[in-house]
Amino acid sequence: MRRPVARFKATIGPPIWPTGPVAATIVTKPGTAMLDTLSLLTPTDFPALKRSRLTTLQVNLGYRCNQSCLHCHVNAGPNRTEMMDEANIELIPRVLAARGLSTLDLTGGAPELHPRFRWLVDAARALGVKVIDRCNLTILSEPGQDGLADFLAVNGVEVVASLPCYLEENVDAQRGKGVYDRSIAGLKRLNALGYGQPGGGLSSRSPGSPRNDLAPSGGGSGDFPEPGARLTLNLVYNPGGDHLPPAQAGLEAAYKKELLDRHGIVFNRLLTIANMPILRFGSTLLSRGRFHDYLALLKISHNPDNLAGVMCRELVSVDWRGRLYDCDFNQMLGPARAGSGNSG
Ligand code: SF4
Repeated sequence: MRRPVARFKATIGPPIWPTGPVAATIVTKPGTAMLDTLSLLTPTDFPALKRSRLTTLQVNLGYRCNQSCLHCHVNAGPNRTEMMDEANIELIPRVLAARGLSTLDLTGGAPELHPRFRWLVDAARALGVKVIDRCNLTILSEPGQDGLADFLAVNGVEVVASLPCYLEENVDAQRGKGVYDRSIAGLKRLNALGYGQPGGGLSSRSPGSPRNDLAPSGGGSGDFPEPGARLTLNLVYNPGGDHLPPAQAGLEAAYKKELLDRHGIVFNRLLTIANMPILRFGSTLLSRGRFHDYLALLKISHNPDNLAGVMCRELVSVDWRGRLYDCDFNQMLGPARAGSGNSG
C-alpha cells in the first residue's frame, strides 16, 4: 500500500469531499511514458527540513501485491517479482538492535506477501520493537494468507490501511472491482480481534526475552505495545486527484459515522494526506497542464506548524534492494535522488 511521508495541511478554504463517483481521479495507464517532474520540483522555496532523532526503520519488502491499483506510485501488482533477499531481511533485526530503533514500518507492495514477513515481525517483536503493517485489507482474505489477521493481533502489530472512501463506488473506482467488499470484510475481521476498539482490543503476546544475538544497544523498547496494549487500526485517505484532502478531523468524524452506521466498523484514527506531484501522478498533471496549478495550491496551503510533524525526519527508508533513503518519496524517485540532502 502507499504510505504518507510528507504532510501538507490546508490553510485555505476546505476542499469539497467527493461524495459522487471519483470523476476527478487522475490515473495514467501502466506502461505510459512518464514525464520528468523532479527538475520542476528541485528549485524550491519551501523551507528545508531538518532531521530529528532516528526512531524508525521503514522497509519496502518488495513490489508484489495482490491488487493492481491504477494510482499505485510503485506500480505494484501480482506479477512484480522484486522482493527483498534473505541477507537483507536478516539484517533488519540487527539494524533495529544496533541502532536502538523503536519502530519497524513495513510496506510494499503488500508486505505480507514476502515469505519472511512473519519471521521479521516475530524478530522485531522479540526486540520489543513496535511494528507497523501498511496493510491493503484485501490481503487478509487472500489465499495462502490464512491466520494473518490473528497473527497481527497476537503480535500487537499496528495496522495502517488505505480506504479512500466509505462508499463502494469510490473505493472500487480507485482500487479495483470488489476491493470495497473485501476491505470491509477485512475491517470486520480486525474489529472482531479487538482492533480499533476504543476501550478494548488488547494485544496478547509478551515480547519475551530479547534474543541474545539481537539485544538492543539502547532505547529499543520504545513505545511498543506491551501485552495489554491497545490494538491500533488507523485508516488513510488521499484524494483521487489534484486537490487537497478535506480537514482531517471532519473527515474522520464522517468516516466513523458512516462505517459504524453502514457496517458496524470502528477504527482509531483517519490520516489524511495530499498526493505528491511525482512519478505517474506528477507526469499526468504535467501532460494535462495542471502541474503548476497543483504545485501553487500546495504552496499556498503550506502550514509551517506542520514541519515538526513530518514523519520522515525520524526515519530511514529502505528499498527492496537494501538501499537507504532519507524519505519514502526519495526512494521512489530512485538512487540518483538519494543523498541529495533535501527530503522536502
Ligand atoms: S494495494 Fe494498491 S496502492 Fe497499495 S501497493 Fe498494492 S497496488 Fe499499490
